[in-house]
Amino acid sequence: MQELIEQLLVELGEDPGREGLLNTPKRVEKALRFLTSGYEADIDKVLNGALFTVDYSEMVIVKDIDFYSLCEHHLLPFFGKCHVAYIPSDKVIGLSKIPRIVDVFSRRLQVQERLTNQIADVIRDKIAPVGVAVVMEATHLCMSMRGVEKQNSFAVTSAMVGAFRDNARTRIEFLELIKLRTGSAGSGDTASAGLAYVGDD
Ligand SMILES: [Zn+2]
Repeated sequence: MQELIEQLLVELGEDPGREGLLNTPKRVEKALRFLTSGYEADIDKVLNGALFTVDYSEMVIVKDIDFYSLCEHHLLPFFGKCHVAYIPSDKVIGLSKIPRIVDVFSRRLQVQERLTNQIADVIRDKIAPVGVAVVMEATHLCMSMRGVEKQNSFAVTSAMVGAFRDNARTRIEFLELIKLRTGSAGSGDTASAGLAYVGDD
């Protein structure tokens, strides 16, 4: 990969031999390997037994999870906040594992819509909850840095599964609790009976 990066620098009109760029191919490779390390990750290892049987059927929400991904069209970052909710049927996922799941799918070449769906799908597959909802709000550098569609460079995607898709009240409760930056929901207290914390490893 480092030879390719060196060649890329040449193509860009740079001199890969100048001091500041000498180690750039090595650094870029290291960065790219990390930013795409989600391909190698084994989701079962990530969850590592952190699935617990509980008698709990309220909405579990983990909001404002920071994520960083790479857009597959431009290999430029898109990043923002991810909000995840589910209603358990009999299993919950350790709360700290939810951001790990987001990382696994973010650290790949992505489009935001697929990333959102993959997070929802893996939670559905692993704990068969009554419902799952994932909302992602992201800034795409391929849009904002290039100055195209500036007003749309902040993208919101959602995946609603089960109760969140079928039950408007459940969906609205979730959307109220996460209070999208782009939404019209007013400011205020986010605490409510639906906001739950479940023990973790
Ligand atoms: Zn892009």
